[in-house]
Amino acid sequence: MNPFDLSHKVAIVTGGNGGIGLGIARGLIQAGANVAVAGRSREKTKTAVAELGELRKGSAIGVDVDVTKEGQVGDMVEHAVARFGRLDILVNNAGIGIRKRPEEYSLEEFERVVSTNLTAVFLGCRAAYPELKRAGGGKIVNIGSMASLFGHPFATPYAGSKGGVVQMTKSLAIAWAVDNIQVNSILPGWIETDMTNAARGYMPDLYDRVLARTPAGRWGRPDDLAGTAVYLASRASDFVTGVSIPIDGGYAVQMP
Ligand code: NDP
Repeated sequence: MNPFDLSHKVAIVTGGNGGIGLGIARGLIQAGANVAVAGRSREKTKTAVAELGELRKGSAIGVDVDVTKEGQVGDMVEHAVARFGRLDILVNNAGIGIRKRPEEYSLEEFERVVSTNLTAVFLGCRAAYPELKRAGGGKIVNIGSMASLFGHPFATPYAGSKGGVVQMTKSLAIAWAVDNIQVNSILPGWIETDMTNAARGYMPDLYDRVLARTPAGRWGRPDDLAGTAVYLASRASDFVTGVSIPIDGGYAVQMP
């Protein structure tokens, strides 16, 4: 039996309507899962569901959610279970950044980043837990960042929230190991998405700086995350929990 097979498994991918989340949703569907892609923008979600449906008809649904809203996160889980009958996999991928020096953030900006990147991961995990338990076990994949490992002068709340994702992953993994729920994180390097395209808009040298600093000699693509997400969502990783895996072309292991 293929240890990476996800046939009959059901996944939710927050922020699955674009960028890294869509790359992961594609991978999960190609491995056999049904996927609920959850995001705020209905237009992006509709386009993503249509694209995913071409991989396998009926394999994807869209769910409207603002992951910072407790009630909506509960509804997201209910919606996926109502449509597909169970929940096995949660990918907490939705995230934002606001680029400023630390002294320039308002409290509202700081809290917006932390509530999207960290509090929402907690809300998603807590809402999914009873369903994963009911399914006899499950998989949670949280998306951190190189900012989980490194600091950045223009990303104080982002780095704080992404560092928190790594520590929270360990705590959830320990707490829920007894329930056969594995909780792990993926730490993407520099990946070409709307988020990094926006960053390249205000840092014209970013593209070349990343190339120079990345041993693989290229930027990542959303599909680069899919294999590791499938692994962490599958039986192949049943004895792997609480870890954070950089997917970064070697960025995190190279001295400057
Ligand atoms: P994108 O901006 O392309 O995607 C972000 C996704 O998050 C969108 O699908 C967006 O959906 C969703 N989202 C944001 N806020 C909310 C919210 N409040 N409720 C629901 N959905 C929300 O960025 P990436 O694909 O690059 O980023 C995905 C994740 O990967 C993030 O957590 C990011 O921090 C992380 N990451 C990205 C890296 C990169 O190089 N690109 C590097 C390291 C980490 P919608 O627009 O519909 O709200």
